[in-house]
Amino acid sequence: MSIVRVALDVPLPRLFDYRAEDPAGDWVGRLVRVPFGSGEKLGLILQVLDQSDQPPEKLRPIHSLLTELPPLPADWIALCEFCARYYQHPLGEVSSFALPPLLRRGKLPKRRLARPQPGRGDQEASPPLTTEQQVALMAIGQTRGFEAFLLHGVTGSGKTEVYLRAIEAVLAQGCQALMLVPEIALTPQLEGRVAARFPDAHIVSAHSGVADAARARGFLEAFEGQADIVLGTRLSVFMPLPRLGLIVVDEEHDASFKQQDGLRYSARDVAIFRAKQRDVPILLGSATPSLETFHHARTGRYRLLTLTLRAVAAAMPDVRIVDTRREKLQDGMSQALIAALELRLARGEQSLIFLNRRGYAPVLACTACGWISHCRRCAANLVVHLADRRLRCHHCGLETGIPQACPDCGNLDIHPFGRGTQRLEVALQERFPEARVLRVDRDSASSPKKWQALLAQIHAGEADILVGTQMLAKGHDFPKLTLVGVVGADAALFAADFRAPERLFAQLMQVGGRSGRALLPGEVLIQSEYPDHPLYQALADHDYSRFASQQLHEREQAGFPPFAHQALLRAEAPSVDQSLAFLAAARVEALKLAGEAVMLYDPVPMRMVRRMSLERAQLLVESASRPALQAFLATWSQLLYELKTPRELRWHLDVDPQEL
Ligand code: ADP
Ligand code: ZN
Ligand code: ZN
Repeated sequence: MSIVRVALDVPLPRLFDYRAEDPAGDWVGRLVRVPFGSGEKLGLILQVLDQSDQPPEKLRPIHSLLTELPPLPADWIALCEFCARYYQHPLGEVSSFALPPLLRRGKLPKRRLARPQPGRGDQEASPPLTTEQQVALMAIGQTRGFEAFLLHGVTGSGKTEVYLRAIEAVLAQGCQALMLVPEIALTPQLEGRVAARFPDAHIVSAHSGVADAARARGFLEAFEGQADIVLGTRLSVFMPLPRLGLIVVDEEHDASFKQQDGLRYSARDVAIFRAKQRDVPILLGSATPSLETFHHARTGRYRLLTLTLRAVAAAMPDVRIVDTRREKLQDGMSQALIAALELRLARGEQSLIFLNRRGYAPVLACTACGWISHCRRCAANLVVHLADRRLRCHHCGLETGIPQACPDCGNLDIHPFGRGTQRLEVALQERFPEARVLRVDRDSASSPKKWQALLAQIHAGEADILVGTQMLAKGHDFPKLTLVGVVGADAALFAADFRAPERLFAQLMQVGGRSGRALLPGEVLIQSEYPDHPLYQALADHDYSRFASQQLHEREQAGFPPFAHQALLRAEAPSVDQSLAFLAAARVEALKLAGEAVMLYDPVPMRMVRRMSLERAQLLVESASRPALQAFLATWSQLLYELKTPRELRWHLDVDPQEL
């Protein structure tokens, strides 16, 4: 009898055996339709066997083999196996996730009849490299096989130019390049740049904004080796690439590389595994590297390449911390900021005010009885959206109208408290009636189309003052933008999460870096009640290394990552007691396994305990040794599947969690 062992998209940490007539060796890696329960599922064949551990009468025959698709390559399967093992996730769910949605359902896209005609326009000329760019490229060009590089370059230093040249060299050798970028918002700009540089290359883009058929087509083009460059968000790390020669991860510190549900993988870390597996170089780029990556670069695991000068602009922007302790702010703005805005308006230059909070105000409140607009499903407030007169929960999407009077006491005197981008937009428009004020946040750029339109407006110089959230912070090059004002940043200084300072620094450095990127000199004003805070001081000096060293020192003292490795077991259920009880039981199991090397914390409710009517708790596991933690998790996660749980309870493991 012949048997195939199949990975199926089910939440169980096991594989399934089926009978098959004459399976051949090249069945491994093929997709197969098999009976499952009373239905049918699509699976991936991992092995062809002579024997099963199941009794023969229990084995059901496969339904059919998907012969239209060649077998997925062994290195792709090994990549899925690595993710399953490392992130403690069922292999069948991983391999299903790694396929584009259409293939997951066993469907094949209609193929393009012919290759798209190359040459969308003339090839964009590449500028002569700066000395620093040359040095970086030489180092990359000299490697053979795997090596991880950190390209640490200040904002505007021309990191993208280095990526493009490195890709050019790889294409010239007949290899494929994979380039990962943070999020969909930026990909169209970059796609344009890459296409202009390589008019003859076959470029495939992969992100959630690509329609299903195109995504599947791109996957097949990469798989069959026709694609030269794959450019995409985190999910593109799973593209099969037979001629892979280089991986680039742009803005490697970006939080969007970590998936926050299902398979909780870090695309950057998986990319490192992949570069090693395929023995090719990987280039991680950032102006503010993650402390993990920076630590590896300092300790010699990665090779550090630095770009200290901007490519075009004469200098870095002048960063000033505006002390607001003794000043009565006007609509949240200091005299210094208002004067700087006036100056830009008079000169016909653009300004950007960064406030990382969308909506009109974070809460609506009654001054008489203390009522506040609270989400009934989450431990969070409903945010006032005055533009469309709604109250909205930013965590679960719950919406209501804005009440005329206090729902508790009937008082008519209810007010929005605090300030979001909408309120700032209104205030700026009132203060500068002649200025064109443009708000850019997830509400005004709610679709890719609207977002593109906003960007076009900014580039065309049709806006004088931009008010925006972090959407505007990354990657953009607006030549006329010479002032960045930051308001309301202090709140993040004292957040409980140990990664909060790292995130704040990166965000402010990124947004400040939008200023003065071309020929006009730039200025950044950061309003703060803690002007002497070392984080702000390091920003003012453009000194990432000082900030990072100080943070790493603190983390080493406290035993936090990268000096320890962490995993979280999280549970959610209708009541937090159920969640805590599950974690307590899980901890009892863990205590039987954990040796000295693994530290188990107590189960605790999550900081925001209630979300979408579920109450959440978590249990932190930590070790100074990654192998020790991995070995522990492998056994523990098996035991977790056997624990009895209330039907409504859900749990998951998050390895290398980004938010505690
Ligand atoms: P980064 O990604 O490091 O923030 P970019 O790659 O966007 O910076 O480069 C900033 C600007 O400098 C872009 O307008 C880019 O076209 C330009 N640039 C990069 N390298 C050079 C160079 N060697 N000569 C001239 N201009 C360059
Ligand atoms: Zn009231
Ligand atoms: Zn809610």
